Amino acid sequence: MKKLFVLTMLLLVAVFSVSAAHGGRTDKNGCHVDRSTGKRHCH
Ligand SMILES: [Zn+2]
Repeated sequence: MKKLFVLTMLLLVAVFSVSAAHGGRTDKNGCHVDRSTGKRHCH
C-alpha cells in the first residue's frame, strides 16, 4: 500500500509540472492551447 501512495504522489507531481510547464490556463475540461505548439490538448 505504501508503494501505491508513492506512485500517486509521483503522478501528481508529474501532472503538476506538465501544466506548470506551459503556464497556460486550463478550462473546466482541463484543456487549453499550448502556446509553443498552437495546439489544443487536454491533461
Ligand atoms: Zn498543456
